[in-house]
Amino acid sequence: MPHQNRGNLFILSAPSGAGKSSLIKALLERQDKVRVSVSHTTRAPRPGENNGEHYHFVSVDEFKTLINQNDFFEWAQVFDNYYGTSKQAIEAQLAAGIDVFLDIDWQGARQVRELMPEVKTIFILPPSKQALEERLNSRGQDSQEVIASRMEQAKSECSHYNEFDYLLVNDDFATALNELEHIVVAARLELKKQQLSQHALIAELLK
Ligand code: 5GP
Repeated sequence: MPHQNRGNLFILSAPSGAGKSSLIKALLERQDKVRVSVSHTTRAPRPGENNGEHYHFVSVDEFKTLINQNDFFEWAQVFDNYYGTSKQAIEAQLAAGIDVFLDIDWQGARQVRELMPEVKTIFILPPSKQALEERLNSRGQDSQEVIASRMEQAKSECSHYNEFDYLLVNDDFATALNELEHIVVAARLELKKQQLSQHALIAELLK
């Protein structure tokens, strides 16, 4: 019987508008043993977002209570809101051999790297500044003021690209998706993982 390995933890960061959510969604459709962690946030839901599915939407007071109870694996203030990954959102899945993706910002990525140095971190760049601006506009869900402030934030998020293990450019969606999937598959084939899952085979071959 192959040994059940722990799942791998991944962080996917990008400026908003780089296509991160669409890439994760498409990856989940292609790989069954991958989940995305559902974060808590104090921001208001956007149209089409459901509580418990896209985020756990909570008040600032509720968020602060969770911080005080030490329920967060990491949390950060992004734009004017709080965002955090609860410990509960990831631990059981990893233990069950599921790969977990955190869609979090660079501040969260720094905290997770400290706690779990084996985390694999991926940064996604948009193909150009113009493309980023067009994507932020075409969402049609945020005001011009919010879009302008997000362009500023995008620049600041991008300035942290060099803290990540992998850098993808989301120009052609299918190519970026393939690249992302390759990272997930390659991580499962790392020697330390395979030594555990294939120990019976290795033992037999070396007998
Ligand atoms: P949005 O409001 O567009 O959904 O997300 C805004 C930013 O917050 C994105 O960069 C996203 O990656 C980040 N974010 C979402 N959830 C978390 C989280 O749990 N922790 C941290 N540190 N950042 C998060």
